[in-house]
Amino acid sequence: MSKKTIAVLAVQGAFAEHIDRMKALGAECIELRQKADLDQEFDGLILPGGESTVQGKLLRELDMFGSLQEKIKNGLPVFGTCAGLILLAQELSNDEHVYFGTLPVRVQRNAYGRQLGSFHAEQEVKGIGTVPMTFIRAPYIEAIEEAGEKEVEILAVVDNRIVAVRCRNQLGVAFHPELDADNRIHEMFLQMCDH
Ligand code: GLN
Repeated sequence: MSKKTIAVLAVQGAFAEHIDRMKALGAECIELRQKADLDQEFDGLILPGGESTVQGKLLRELDMFGSLQEKIKNGLPVFGTCAGLILLAQELSNDEHVYFGTLPVRVQRNAYGRQLGSFHAEQEVKGIGTVPMTFIRAPYIEAIEEAGEKEVEILAVVDNRIVAVRCRNQLGVAFHPELDADNRIHEMFLQMCDH
């Protein structure tokens, strides 16, 4: 695999951990903090966990939203974790906002209630094996939209809830793979950037 450059949205949330993971796997990283950062060339994009409402607002205020959405629609490989998954979702069941709306799934935010806000699981991810999963006030994927029935591949289910999917150039997970000592999901994303 040739050396890849991965852009990590760095306006809010857990972006530093993703950068560490990508560097450990031999990728180059750039941080996207302002519009001018989008002029650089990159092979993939990571949307980290954090607070989707804040990230969505900042993306608009910083005038980065339109170009990033365009790039994703045009096939740029993108990896959304937790809040990043919320930004990608075509529909949110308990929130009227839609952000990029490029991933044909319906997502519920803060889906585990207050007491179960954060928890850890170990579960099979298709094509990888058992993976540790840290959930922090996590969303889950309630349903695949009709438009995505043929294209969305379910990669992982925890307690009957879909927590990881892939659809063409998009990988969305409800948990935080950057917080556990396991690089395999990041590796899977890097492979998606190699096409
Ligand atoms: N609860 C957050 C949201 O709705 C997501 C939490 C996270 O990214 N860990 O955006």
